Amino acid sequence: MGSFDAIVSLCKQRGFVFQSSEIYGGIGGFWDYGPLGVELKNNIKRSWWRRVVQMRDDVVGLDAAIIMNPQTWVASGHVEEFTDPLVDCKQCKKRFRADAIVNNTCPDCGAVGQFTDVRKFNLMFKTYVGPVEESAALTYLRPETAQGIFVNFQNVLIAMRKKLPFGIAQIGKAFRNEITPGDFIFRDREFEQMEIEYFVKPGTDEQWHHHWVEERLRWYIEDLGLRKERIRARALPKEDLAHYSKATFEIEYDFPGKGWAEIEGIANRTDYDLKRHSQYSGKDLTYFDEETKEHYIPYVIEPSCGVDRIFLAVLLDAYHEEEVRGEKRVVLKLKPQLAPIKVAVFPLLRNRPELVRKAKEIANALRKDFTVWYDDTAAIGRLYRRQDEIGTPYCITVDVQSLTDNAVTIRDRDTMLQERVPIERVAAVLKEKLAEC
Ligand code: ATP
Repeated sequence: MGSFDAIVSLCKQRGFVFQSSEIYGGIGGFWDYGPLGVELKNNIKRSWWRRVVQMRDDVVGLDAAIIMNPQTWVASGHVEEFTDPLVDCKQCKKRFRADAIVNNTCPDCGAVGQFTDVRKFNLMFKTYVGPVEESAALTYLRPETAQGIFVNFQNVLIAMRKKLPFGIAQIGKAFRNEITPGDFIFRDREFEQMEIEYFVKPGTDEQWHHHWVEERLRWYIEDLGLRKERIRARALPKEDLAHYSKATFEIEYDFPGKGWAEIEGIANRTDYDLKRHSQYSGKDLTYFDEETKEHYIPYVIEPSCGVDRIFLAVLLDAYHEEEVRGEKRVVLKLKPQLAPIKVAVFPLLRNRPELVRKAKEIANALRKDFTVWYDDTAAIGRLYRRQDEIGTPYCITVDVQSLTDNAVTIRDRDTMLQERVPIERVAAVLKEKLAEC
């Protein structure tokens, strides 16, 4: 298990996550994913998409625009309701979410009872479409991807000839002008969501709600490999429900130093959104049930998670420090499917051109099947440690004997055991190993 500090430092040093526009001092709540970060993030997204779209015949995908007609946000209730309670400390002038104040004390300067009245602060970023900054062209960066799905409900229904129950899944950026972004990439102002709107016949909603809670827990444990004991589902008390929700379960991860915190919300949004869009757009968004010959607006179950929070949980969960022959070894025990690099290739001796040539040849041959890293910039022990630290499951070393026996060693990240494999079998052996995990 890693600490936040260990992960933040690893992320920066090894190219997972950088502060956005760091050379100008950064900007609060925005982060850039580096060369290894983008691979891990893509692997998390691919795993989700595979499980909820590709492996099911009742869910289809979508990629809607970030900027939508502003009426969308009036209809969805976000213009009115998507607010956080805000207070200012009169002493230090800092702003806080009212629910972050404990014992009436300023978390920054410690002043007691020096707060302004609570005001509602809308979290949506405003922007202008077109060349004239006038209110007619005012719209918002989407604070959730869900509305792109609701406004396309009829398009997808008709184009794909779907019958209830069916879902629409989407991955994309969302933006919230959070009052207090923080905890590294846990609370950002720009982040990525993976959302499913699963449309069901009213009356079957509670049963489907439970189905999705169980199914989503399975993804975290089986596919992402998160430790069972650090993940749980919790029903939200009524007073914490969002304006559209009849019931919500949160999937929480036990973050070291922070405790249980939401990584996914699974809400029963009822027919709220489709009804409101129908009212505001004047379009009929009902579903015709051929069996019962009824028209009705479906209920919707929404599993909604954040890629960045999951990325953080995956890294914390995978981080291990071990002692190997008196030295500290940092190893990311990532599920091989999630590892940014699947296989690294090294020559045992970097001053032997025949070894370098052969190692490069092997690396290039493997590139068509795997993400590969070639390295000859340090001694072999060092090269292994570098790959352990970023979670590379397999390292291949070309040694002097390889020149005569045409075989190499494959080293396993977790056991550190090595086996000798003929070069012509390396790709097949790696494929087998990766398919097993
Ligand atoms: P919180 O209570 O932590 O503010 P939320 O309940 O507002 O989160 P939802 O609206 O349910 O969050 O969004 C669904 C998911 O999107 C969350 O479970 C989380 O993983 C992700 N998410 C929401 N806000 C942020 C953020 N500011 N930064 C990163 N991820 C976020």
